[in-house]
Amino acid sequence: MSLIDSLASVFSGKIISDPTDMAAFLTDWRGKWTGVALAVVQPDNTEDVSLVVRWCNEHGVSVVPQGGNTGLSGGATPSATGLNVVLSLTRMNKVRDIDVLNNTISLDAGVTLLAVQEAADEAQKLFPLSLAAEGTCTIGGNLATNAGGVQVLRYGNARDLCLGLEVVTSDGSIWNGMKSLRKDNTGYDLKNIFIGSEGTLGVITGATLKLFEKPKSKVVSFIALADPSAALRLLKLAQELHSNELTAFELMSDECIQLVEKHVDAARSPLASRSEWYVLLELSSSSEEQALSSRIESLLEIAMENDWIADAAISSSIAQFNAIWALREDISEAQAAEGKTIKHDISLPISAIPQFIDRVTKRLLDSYSVARMVVFGHLGDGNLHFNLSPARSLDKSQNELFTSIEAEVNKLVHDEVNACNGSISAEHGLGVLRRDEASRYRSEIERNLMSSLKKSFDPKNLMNPGKVIS
Ligand SMILES: Cc1cc2nc3c(=O)[nH]c(=O)nc-3n(C[C@H](O)[C@H](O)[C@H](O)COP(=O)(O)OP(=O)(O)OC[C@H]3O[C@@H](n4cnc5c(N)ncnc54)[C@H](O)[C@@H]3O)c2cc1C
Repeated sequence: MSLIDSLASVFSGKIISDPTDMAAFLTDWRGKWTGVALAVVQPDNTEDVSLVVRWCNEHGVSVVPQGGNTGLSGGATPSATGLNVVLSLTRMNKVRDIDVLNNTISLDAGVTLLAVQEAADEAQKLFPLSLAAEGTCTIGGNLATNAGGVQVLRYGNARDLCLGLEVVTSDGSIWNGMKSLRKDNTGYDLKNIFIGSEGTLGVITGATLKLFEKPKSKVVSFIALADPSAALRLLKLAQELHSNELTAFELMSDECIQLVEKHVDAARSPLASRSEWYVLLELSSSSEEQALSSRIESLLEIAMENDWIADAAISSSIAQFNAIWALREDISEAQAAEGKTIKHDISLPISAIPQFIDRVTKRLLDSYSVARMVVFGHLGDGNLHFNLSPARSLDKSQNELFTSIEAEVNKLVHDEVNACNGSISAEHGLGVLRRDEASRYRSEIERNLMSSLKKSFDPKNLMNPGKVIS
């Protein structure tokens, strides 16, 4: 019996083995990595996930869990050699329960993030995790990568929003940890070990998540300022005056806004003049919109009097609110349209960010005339997307000059991050992209503890091998 026939004899759900039909599952979202697989399987319930994982365990076949395949670190792509099954969770897409009194929602891991938000909305509640890939990424993928996004400042990242998990372990057992408790100190926190483990310790099949009250009003402001130091002063003021209402505080350089205006139809800065840097600041509240707008206005007046900001626009309609947010959310797409990119998803103490940007930008531009900086990020969370694109002077045919500097640039940036006691992956995980670099910055004790953890959860090294740690 062939391996596929053997798999089909225990799992009667959807198995894809035709190379053309498998192709979309074997390459990552950015098209950076392509792998091979015996088959892609799409179970629609936890028991079937368990059957598939048990079969893989017995036959020495690696399991590569996959959600929406929007990850940016190559974690959901099987290796180019080896015996792999891609375990796609997208058919596990049922909302199991909403408890409005307990403010929780329980669901299958393959529900898309957008569908989670919509289910919460229907129940007059808010599920606050939000990121540009939300129409495609799944809650299982969000938890497996501990996703961040644009509202972490107020509500935390995926880990902070999760109360319980259901997981199929490497031998096919089902762990039911679908608790919906805010307090539970009964020993080691297994849930938090699986969160952020990128499919290397088990397959998340279900989750219980926190819900919040829906804000009555949201107002966003697009603010011009001279430099990241001014942005930091503004952040501190906003936190002092409105910490309970501050939902997002995003920093972006004028280079980012120029790229969005160039590549995205109808995208325009709402401000009459240009500035080196901008901040997007959102307040949301249970009070009326007018009260919230007045609060943003007073905040901006103080910042203006102190000469921290040069100009600002405040949204007064949903269309304006969305248009301002689009300037921020379309940066990645606009940067991709400009050609090759070198990206860094870094985390730093917030207070260290202005000096980091100044110092490291200078080092990079002094050393590499073929590059220009595209810097943006979640300043309120200390998370920068410290990216580079080819210099404007570079012809498209000279792209390889730009690509050839990638390894050196990564080392320069990540050494600087390490020197600030920062992290080289704030929200995108390690996958294969940052696996070896992360290992280089770890202490021996940290490497050993991680390796023992992996061995105890996955003794045969069949759960997404080669991702996160070697
Ligand atoms: C346009 C765009 C914008 C983005 N913006 C952000 C952002 O702001 N913040 C952010 O954090 N990320 C962002 N991302 C990255 C990505 O969307 C997130 O990492 C997301 O959480 C991945 O979810 P997914 O379902 O697509 O997972 P996949 O890409 O399918 O998988 C990602 C990893 O999780 C594992 N995995 C997936 N499902 C499971 C499961 N059920 N059980 C166990 N392991 C599993 C995979 O093996 C892989 O290692 C963005 C991506 C894109 C394309």
